[in-house]
Amino acid sequence: MPDEIIVLGSSSGLPTERRFAPGYALTAAGKLFLLDCGAPASTLLYRYQLDPVDVEAIFLSHWHMDHVASLGLFLSQNRLLKRLGPLAVYGPRGTRGKVRRLLSDSFLLADELGYPLNLTNIECNESYQEALLRVTYFKTQHLERPKLKTQFGSKATACGMVIDGPGWRVVYSGDLSSSQELGPYIEGCDLLIHEMAHLPPEEVATFAATAKIPHVLISHIGPEFDEAPEKIVEAFAGIYRGQLTVAEDGTRVALKSTSRQKKQVS
Ligand SMILES: [Zn+2]
Repeated sequence: MPDEIIVLGSSSGLPTERRFAPGYALTAAGKLFLLDCGAPASTLLYRYQLDPVDVEAIFLSHWHMDHVASLGLFLSQNRLLKRLGPLAVYGPRGTRGKVRRLLSDSFLLADELGYPLNLTNIECNESYQEALLRVTYFKTQHLERPKLKTQFGSKATACGMVIDGPGWRVVYSGDLSSSQELGPYIEGCDLLIHEMAHLPPEEVATFAATAKIPHVLISHIGPEFDEAPEKIVEAFAGIYRGQLTVAEDGTRVALKSTSRQKKQVS
């Protein structure tokens, strides 16, 4: 199993005939992980010959439904598949309680799942190690609205991630209000998975060019580009000279160090 990202879903919050909600299978040193769990990620794994019981950990960026809706089914599916090995779920503050409620609201008890479920409320700027993967969360501005803070406190937190695997670094934007938010976290990045649900492509292209990102995978694609992803390619042309991949569901990107290519991007 090569180190790679498989795009399970590339839509924005509005799934379409062509695209499912966001979720990414990540394989690193023979281990399987999920970045976000939009519906129907747990089912889509089969399409790529991946087994839900092999998922070691799920890293959630935030609790908007487009990013988490397949999680409940994934947990019960693993119970029915008689999973034995532990499953880790990481997410922003509130994740532990939300997952427990998700189980109890569907009449499941965590200690009757048959496999250990390890839930972690992440701290931003802390690193979490799973096998050879190290994931460092950072906060984004996506949910930084006074009304949400009043209503939900610090549980209304959205995050991106710096993901270090054996010899490569992926940065996953999560949802943003500006590409510039990624500035402090982008150093040494071999692949940037950048959302396109809230930002114009020209802004992302300019950021990627300035930050000298060797490879950008555009995903979380809004309705205006759903049937016309070439518009994203056109917007990047003339601004960004690195490698650009515009995701479709099923897009695969091999993960490797691009330090040599980095010197050629200018
Ligand atoms: Zn989203």
